[in-house]
Parts: sequence; C-alpha cells; structure tokens
Amino acid sequence: MEDIYQNLWEKTKENLASCYREDTFKETFEDVKEVIKFQNGTIFVLVPNIYIKTKINSIYIEKINDVLKKYTDEKLKFKFVLDSEVTKEAPQAMKNDNRLYLNNLNENFNFESFVVGESNMFGYRMSINVADQPGIIANPLYIFGGVGLGKTHLMQAIGNYILDKDINAKVLYVQANDFIVDYSKATQSGTMVEFNKKYDNLDCLLVDDIQMLEIGKKSQQEFFKLFNDLVNRKKQIVITSDCPANQLKGIMERLTSRFSQGMTVDIKKPNLEQRVNILRRKAQELSTKVVPDDVLYFISENFPDNIRELEGALNRVLWHSSVCNYDDITLERAMDALDALTKFKKPSQNDDNSNYENVLSVIAHFYNISINDIISTQRKQKYVLPRHIAMYILKEKFDLPYKKIGTILGGRDHTTIMSGCTKIDNELKSDKELKMAVDTILKKVN
Ligand code: ADP
Ligand code: MG
Repeated sequence: MEDIYQNLWEKTKENLASCYREDTFKETFEDVKEVIKFQNGTIFVLVPNIYIKTKINSIYIEKINDVLKKYTDEKLKFKFVLDSEVTKEAPQAMKNDNRLYLNNLNENFNFESFVVGESNMFGYRMSINVADQPGIIANPLYIFGGVGLGKTHLMQAIGNYILDKDINAKVLYVQANDFIVDYSKATQSGTMVEFNKKYDNLDCLLVDDIQMLEIGKKSQQEFFKLFNDLVNRKKQIVITSDCPANQLKGIMERLTSRFSQGMTVDIKKPNLEQRVNILRRKAQELSTKVVPDDVLYFISENFPDNIRELEGALNRVLWHSSVCNYDDITLERAMDALDALTKFKKPSQNDDNSNYENVLSVIAHFYNISINDIISTQRKQKYVLPRHIAMYILKEKFDLPYKKIGTILGGRDHTTIMSGCTKIDNELKSDKELKMAVDTILKKVN
C-alpha cells in the first residue's frame, strides 16, 4: 500500500494514543496496523477481529476521522475491515440474484448500530460469534426478552453480517406468524412451489417471535421438518421469543426441546446509563441538531422499559423541533414535545402532529423502515415509495396544503409533494399490490 496512507494511519494512531488511557488504547488499537487498500477517498485499515472492528465502529470512528483531518486537506476517511471482507469482493452483478433475501432485512439493524451494555452484552457477543461462524457455534441461537429490547435488531444484525461476508448467502428473516400464513396459503392452494422456493436451501433462517407459532399446529409440523433439515445441513437458525423455550405454550415439545439444544441468551432492560448511550447514538444518527444531555436524561428517565418507546420519544422531540422550526433543542421544548406522552393525554395543538406522526409510523412499520428513512433524502426505491405513500395519505386523509406536507416530511418543496401525490393517485388505478398496501395502511391509521 502506498506510503502516504500508511503514514496517515500511523500519525492518526499516534495522536489517538495521546487521547486515551494507555490500557484502553492498547486494548483496541495495538494490533490495528496495516492499511491494505485505498478506494474513492476511503482508507481501509485491517483489524484483527470482529470485536475490535465493532468497538472501533461504535465508539471511536468519529474521533478517528476527526483526527485524520488534522493531517490531510483531502476529503478522506478510514474504514476498518476484516481480512475476509477485503479479499473476496462480490461483483455487483451477482447481488441482484439474491434480492428476495437481501430485501428482507433492514440494513440499519446491524452490529455497529447496536449499543452494548450490561443488559445485552452476552447476547451481543454470542450473536457476533454465531454470525462469524454460522451453523457451528450454537444452533439454534435462541434469544428471548421483553418487548422492544432489541431482539429483532440483534437477529437481523446476524443476518446482515452473514450477507456482508457472503453476498450469495441465502438468509431469510421471517416472523413466525408469516410462516404460518405462507404455509396455509401453500396448502390451501394445493401448491407448495412458492413455499419451497422461499424456504428450501437456506443458509440461515431467522424466525422472529416464535411464540406466535402457537396458533398453527400444522405449521409446527412443517417447521419441525425445516428446522431439522437446516440443523442437519449445519445451517444457522436464530429464533427470538418473549420467553424461554421451556415456557412456550401451545408449541409441541419436540420443537421446544430442540430449541433448548443450542444456546439460549436473554436480553434484559437497559439501565439508565445504557439508555442515555442509546439515545445519544440515535440522536447523532438522526439529526444534525445537538440534543443536550439534560434532554437525553429526561427522556431516558421517563421511558425505562422499552427501547422502541425510548426512540419514539426522541423522534418526537426531533420532530417537534423541526415542525416548530426551532434552532436548538432545550429541556423545556423537549418536555413540551413529550407532554402528551408523559402525562395523561390532554387536548393540545400537538395532537395534529401526533396524528401525522402516527401515519408515518404506520407506514414505516409496514415497510420495515424508520420514520427517519421516510423523511430522509435517501433515494433508494425502498424509501421513495413509502415516502410517496406518506405524501398521498397525508393529503387524502387530512387534506393538508402541499406546503404543510412538505414541512412535515422534512422540509420538502410543495411541488415535490404534488408530484408524489399525483404519482400514487395514478398508480393506484392499475397497481393492485399498491392498492392493497395503501388500504392496509389506511386501516391501521384509522
Ligand atoms: P424487540 O424485537 O425486542 O421487540 P427491536 O429489536 O425491534 O425489539 O428493537 C426496538 C427498537 O430499539 C429498534 O429500533 C432497535 O433498533 C432499537 N434497539 C434495541 N436495542 C438496541 C440497542 N442495544 N442499541 C441500539 N438500538 C437498539
Ligand atoms: Mg421484535
């Protein structure tokens, strides 16, 4: 590798050494030495293992790239990669073959964005190990815990990681109740072709909320077959649940006993410090505005039980601030924004906003993306369509002026909104699938 990039890394590293305690520094950076590639402004640095990689990406990356700026005027950044990631790079064309499986995961649910603390450390480490050596370390990996504590996130992180390493891996994420739906559709229409196409020859199966399997006795038999086939072929299975396997009700014992054969991890509620860390992290991801510590603590103290609610509260604060055109976020404004959630609901001007927010939330949930993906400027089709639907529904349901919809959707121009609404209006006339989606969303909104 050219000396200048190696040199840049060494200087940056030297500088970092002076920023942290010696043992802290050594623990992470001692073996991070070699620059192995340079491409489009990114300097790739080799890391010895996934722990170090994740640690750097979740704690140090911003600092590192900040330091780098001291030594160069060019727009460069570091990226930390494992050996295995650099040697095999799948050609772009192959990616498409696997779309069914790739589209199935939310790419934001990855290890880097998962904040680790006491409550989830073991689950996290186990998940990384499993992702690193699928089918070998623990099969199945069984993750259980309360609502909104990160089970789905962790499970999809495993899938995303496996796909990152091997773009051709067949990784399927499925909610247990969708498995039931798929299976009953297949049996009712007397054709298993579609079903088999989806479930055969998987490399990794992620089954979310297994407790839902209770309602499908026949599906349990089918799942049992699938489960055995995968385990026999040493393919990874990850299962999430709201309780330990031996407490699952209405699921046949030969299945639940199989679930306990692998490794079980539980995720507990995060403590205050952890919640603040999560929020700080999300706030940086979601907004350029600074969310002060007193606001982070206020939210964390009021939403102790569930990370989804915690995030929702932060979203609401950010949202409120942008709709009201505030320049900065203060504790008072945050309390104001959260008033309806923290106290008993009282009629206020915010109620309209919470209705609009609800529309976005339903759409986001329907498409397995976040509200911020809808509001963002990302141009990927998987964000663009939900965004257009949001425009359309806000217009249809509340008859808002285009300008107002533009403000709600992150400050977009009214002409953009008009064309989005028209587009959906037109497509609804011929696109049955779209019509079904919009109808379902409307039902949930109402
Ligand atoms: P569950 O499946 O347990 O109900 P999810 O995985 O859907 O919970 O998590 C709810 C939300 O909280 C998601 O947006 C997820 O990204 C976020 N989340 C959960 N745990 C963490 C964590 N440790 N770090 C960052 N975000 C988290
Ligand atoms: Mg979940």
